[in-house]
Amino acid sequence: MTGRSFLSDRVQQLGVSPIREIFEIAAKMKDVVRLEVGEPDFDTPAYIVDACKAALDSGFTHYTSFAGIPELRKALADKLRRENGIEINPENQIVITPGGTGALYEAVQATVNPGEEVLLPSPGWPQYTSIVQLAAATPAYYPITETGGFMAARALVEPHINDKTKVLLINSPSNPTGGVIDREALEGICDLVRERDILLFSDEVYELILYEGEHVSPATLPGMAERTITINAASKTFAMTGWRIGYAAGPADIITEMTKLNLYTNTHPNSFAQLACVEGYNNQQQDVLDEMVSSYQQRRDFMVKNLNELPGVRCPNPKGAFYLFPNIEGTGLSSLEFAKTLLEKGGVSTVPGSGFGPGGEGYLRLCFAQSMDELEKAVDRMAKVTGELKG
Ligand code: PLP
Repeated sequence: MTGRSFLSDRVQQLGVSPIREIFEIAAKMKDVVRLEVGEPDFDTPAYIVDACKAALDSGFTHYTSFAGIPELRKALADKLRRENGIEINPENQIVITPGGTGALYEAVQATVNPGEEVLLPSPGWPQYTSIVQLAAATPAYYPITETGGFMAARALVEPHINDKTKVLLINSPSNPTGGVIDREALEGICDLVRERDILLFSDEVYELILYEGEHVSPATLPGMAERTITINAASKTFAMTGWRIGYAAGPADIITEMTKLNLYTNTHPNSFAQLACVEGYNNQQQDVLDEMVSSYQQRRDFMVKNLNELPGVRCPNPKGAFYLFPNIEGTGLSSLEFAKTLLEKGGVSTVPGSGFGPGGEGYLRLCFAQSMDELEKAVDRMAKVTGELKG
């Protein structure tokens, strides 16, 4: 032991994600229904796994271009045109990153100076805050509310923009709420972004897990292509969270700098995972994706119905993603107290809403990408715990 701490101030300021915190406790307990982690419960589709095996067999195990292999950049440029209506040059307007997380990290590092503000949704994915702090920048928050359908809107964002604001981040469908931003609200947000001359990050990792409404990419709206970075990943779409393939598409000057960051942090994402993703995007098997979404939808409907029957709980219907964000104020407990009670007394692990920023207090996040057996067990156990609370 030395008397001196060798830790940087930079890492010490970072909190631990509440999702990981609950994950660690739950992992050590027996007989827990795990609803805390945001993971698809499907396996990666076989046609993508086969493409990966073929890549390995063919010796595709070496360094690639820092921006990611040209075949994948081309496949994604085609996907962005076909599915999102976004036109990009695969040569210099897209970078392949280690998951959506890597894309967000690089986007912030490439554009935000120390002291500048990045405006984030609250409640929102907790990693955004730490990623902004790692750039010595300041996270600021705009509210998304249950009464507003957990949808970002100009009126909610505008009061929080000031001279230091560099970037506005939107996430639709949203983690943790499942809220989806409709076209009209998105147009209002984009007007604001142009008027205030700021940059927009659009986190679209859940774009295809949509039950109601439409997904609109802001980069397609007038005057937005030059000030939008579209962030996405194979992780949720293809149940590929462990493969760590994501991407960012946007203006060439920003993407060029992000490519440099790829080089200095991870060189490039895994070569054979990239090649497998070429197959994933080029030969996207719509029936496989449709089956996943309809199975999520069934589970959503089951959970929303049952949670709304619990005393003290009110559960809105999420329009996308695979999370429920029930209001639990009626239980009389804080979100942390309620999550701990559910875990300790009921053996159901969830994440307290307070872990998603100040706007999350009074709520709980549950991921319903679990088997129906587990979900039925969760509902029974939650009924027992909430029944005892009231009694
Ligand atoms: N953005 C949101 C809103 C997420 O929920 C997640 C993962 O949970 C990510 C980005 C990052 O995904 P990836 O696993 O591709 O890094």
